[in-house]
Amino acid sequence: MTDNKKKDGYVQQTIEIFQGLTQGMGTTLVHLFRRKITEEYPEYKRPLPERTRARIILTRDPDGEERCVSCFLCAAACPVSCISMEGEEREDGRRWARWFRINFARCIYCGLCEEACPTLAIQLTPDFEFCDRDILNLVAEKEDLLVDHGGKNGEYNFYRYAGVTMVGDKGSHINEEEPVNLKKNLP
Ligand code: SF4
Ligand code: SF4
Repeated sequence: MTDNKKKDGYVQQTIEIFQGLTQGMGTTLVHLFRRKITEEYPEYKRPLPERTRARIILTRDPDGEERCVSCFLCAAACPVSCISMEGEEREDGRRWARWFRINFARCIYCGLCEEACPTLAIQLTPDFEFCDRDILNLVAEKEDLLVDHGGKNGEYNFYRYAGVTMVGDKGSHINEEEPVNLKKNLP
């Protein structure tokens, strides 16, 4: 290769490098003045849809009573078996969960528990900021889960539709009519 040809090759290479650099700088400059599409987190927290599936809560009915009747349907529906509880019956026949536990370290936030719940007690919320380095802190007890509102369906009251177990004599339950005396019209 002659000296002249070598020189031409160097010049060509230099021109290509320069072109590449100018192209890159040009792209950077254009993007510098474009509207930003990234969001600063956690300074800015994008509002999430109501149906976002994150932290799970146990809700109350409009009377302030716990909605959960400890029917175990959520635990049966859960694909990773991270829900456990113990059920009890109150004196008035209403069932409730004596304790209720969710292991968030196992939960995959599929929402199947919410779908299975007949009383709308268990609900997933958009709150996703509860990671922890200690895995044991991700085991939530009932007091961590129970809230003072009805969540997504504030007005729903399961017991108004389903009633409670019959306890005591007929007519002895709160809001229950006295039994009709069939013989009262007889002479
Ligand atoms: S969201 Fe899914 S994995 Fe999590 S507790 Fe409910 S059913 Fe189980
Ligand atoms: S949260 Fe719902 S499905 Fe689960 S035990 Fe309570 S009432 Fe049943």
